[in-house]
Amino acid sequence: MEFVVASGGYPLIECSTCSEKKCEVGKGFLLVRGSLLKQIHKNVRYSSSLKILDQEVLQGELEAERSFKYSDIAVRLAPPHLLQPKPNVSDLRFGKYFTDHMFKVYYHEALGGWQTPEITPLENLVFHPAAKVLHYAIEAFEGMKAYRGIDGKIRLFRPELNMARMNASARRMGLPGFSSIEFIKCCTRLIGIDQEWVPHSEASSLYIRPTIVGIDPTLGVSSSESALLYVILCPVGSYFAGEKRTEGVSLLADPRYTRAWPGGCGDRKVGSNYAPTIRVQKEAAEKGLQQVLWLYGEDHQVTEVGTMNIFMFHINEDGEKQLVTPPLDGLILPGITRSSILELARDINEFKITERTITMEEVCRLVAENRLLELFGAGTACVVSPISYIEYMGQGLHIPTCDQPEPLYKKFLKTLLDIQYGYVPGHPWTWEID
Ligand SMILES: *Cc1c(COP(=O)(O)O)cnc(C)c1O
Repeated sequence: MEFVVASGGYPLIECSTCSEKKCEVGKGFLLVRGSLLKQIHKNVRYSSSLKILDQEVLQGELEAERSFKYSDIAVRLAPPHLLQPKPNVSDLRFGKYFTDHMFKVYYHEALGGWQTPEITPLENLVFHPAAKVLHYAIEAFEGMKAYRGIDGKIRLFRPELNMARMNASARRMGLPGFSSIEFIKCCTRLIGIDQEWVPHSEASSLYIRPTIVGIDPTLGVSSSESALLYVILCPVGSYFAGEKRTEGVSLLADPRYTRAWPGGCGDRKVGSNYAPTIRVQKEAAEKGLQQVLWLYGEDHQVTEVGTMNIFMFHINEDGEKQLVTPPLDGLILPGITRSSILELARDINEFKITERTITMEEVCRLVAENRLLELFGAGTACVVSPISYIEYMGQGLHIPTCDQPEPLYKKFLKTLLDIQYGYVPGHPWTWEID
């Protein structure tokens, strides 16, 4: 029996399936309630690294009683002549094509909260020009995927963690919370309707973009009394189909820029974190570098790479192999891929695993002493992405990730893809959609 409990003095949670009780205060962080617990009983493993659920989620999920319900859903299908042709898998660019339908549910405090959830044809949204999202970026989003397995079945990967994280992000923006399980059911229905859009190819998948925006038609900087939660879907190619996967990405590490700071909201998936990164990304591109390695602080701490979490595999002072990733100290987006890799690494049990700060000084030293084995990014979009080069303070650092005979990143990549594409039938991290 495995399950996750809330931290920080929250009460013991009883598993409704086997009625076992367990409380690991300060370790596990998933708030589990009633029906949600039953649903995720088999889907979630206890994980000390998954600190994505905290006070904000607790409040978010407490509103579950007032959440919209899947059973109320209204479906309006697109007429056949409006259905879009499906693009070629080879032609897929991230976020370029969208499926025929979308999910929407409005929240209006004055009308009692969440309204009727709907599935409609994909259509434009209409807001008042004062809508809060347009002025103060009152928005939160998620990024997850549906995969067509070798058996033809469509699977989601740990969606309960995305929904819990979205509740935390929404809360941070003063937006209303909802029931994770009701929302997953709605998404599942949407994917079922547009299931022909889930590519029959292991080089691609269906990207799911849940979004919540504050839409009050008032300019006050205050919490939202009206909001829209919606979901759009796009078929996407693999980021690394072909050669790129073994090539590795090149990075610009410029300490003049930072994406997150203590007390900020770098640990939440909110739109306002991303707009300021675009110019820095462009600067990297102008230098012929593919992504930004985000640093923080006087000691140039390595925090994230592009929109991925970062891992370092190296030989430590005692000559042992060690996997390191920065801790969830508020500067790091609590990635579901990150958390999954940490859990897989614990299962492999062949090297030390540490969540601690990494500095550029350390990276440079490890490279100089030939003790750096691999650096890689981890996130839903690319799963695992090897790093081969860093430009830092006018210096070029060659990172030997892709020179390793049997790199560790490939092991994680293969294991995760095998789970996502159904090579491991009934894996507890997957949710099958019928
Ligand atoms: C989404 C995201 C990640 C990766 O999270 P996953 O849940 O693994 O997809 C990492 N860093 C940032 C900044 C992100 O926005």
